[in-house]
Amino acid sequence: MKLRDKVTIITGGNRGIGLATAKLFIENGARVAITGRDENAGRAALESLHDAIFIQGDVTQNADCERIVNETVRAFGRLDILFNNAGIILRNRNVEATTEEEWDATFDTNVKSIFLMSRAALPHLRKTGESAIINTSSYVGLVGFPGLAAYAASKGAVVNLTRAMALDHARENIRVNCICPGSVETDMIHAAWKLYGNTAEAARVWAAKHPLNRIAAPDEIARLVLFLASAESSFITGAAIPIDGGITAG
Ligand code: NDP
Repeated sequence: MKLRDKVTIITGGNRGIGLATAKLFIENGARVAITGRDENAGRAALESLHDAIFIQGDVTQNADCERIVNETVRAFGRLDILFNNAGIILRNRNVEATTEEEWDATFDTNVKSIFLMSRAALPHLRKTGESAIINTSSYVGLVGFPGLAAYAASKGAVVNLTRAMALDHARENIRVNCICPGSVETDMIHAAWKLYGNTAEAARVWAAKHPLNRIAAPDEIARLVLFLASAESSFITGAAIPIDGGITAG
């Protein structure tokens, strides 16, 4: 029980990496609020989560972020951990092929949401005397990748926002770290494979990009988030941790 009674918000918790993390956190004693825009996915997710709540909301909107934090604190009485995980990706877009709306949507979802959610959460996180924020970047936040201009820029911003926040809040014992996953088998990656028509072949090509010659399961990412949220990582703050099957080692 690494997170006994720790109250946690997981954005993008209704599927994928966020949902896998919610399950593992609950197994480890946490009390969890998951969020997302899709109410049906939220309700379906709750069926596999013991004693969690779903708060529908769009994390690009400040009013929603404040409501998510307030409803969580009202339900559970405190807030210890914020996992800023919601994200979107637009593929096959170099700078010329990216519209201004796509650029803004990518940054609003992947970066501004972290600013808005963290700003709303910090007054509560500060009260606990020992709390953690974990942000989801990507290996593409550490290295470039063709066709992902807005996404790569946004995930790079997540890495440096994490560092800046870690320094701002270290003296309050609020640790801020980010994870930089390689490819993970979620809806996001299945959508990418579909773009290439032959899903089986795309899956093989995707696996081969990683030195371990496979992509990750969401559970494997969740275990790193658990480590960063728990006292086991008590001296780690401001870190951007690759969890990418070796892809950024080369
Ligand atoms: P999914 O597409 O499965 O999940 C994305 C989640 O983000 C959903 O829960 C979605 O919920 C939520 N979300 C998106 N936009 C918003 C919004 N405006 N407001 C609230 N919630 C939103 O993807 P993953 O689980 O794979 O991705 C999770 C994170 O991991 C993302 O930040 C992604 O960039 C990152 N990542 C993923 C990798 C992968 O290979 N899968 C690799 C590296 C990083 P809803 O649609 O209901 O709003």
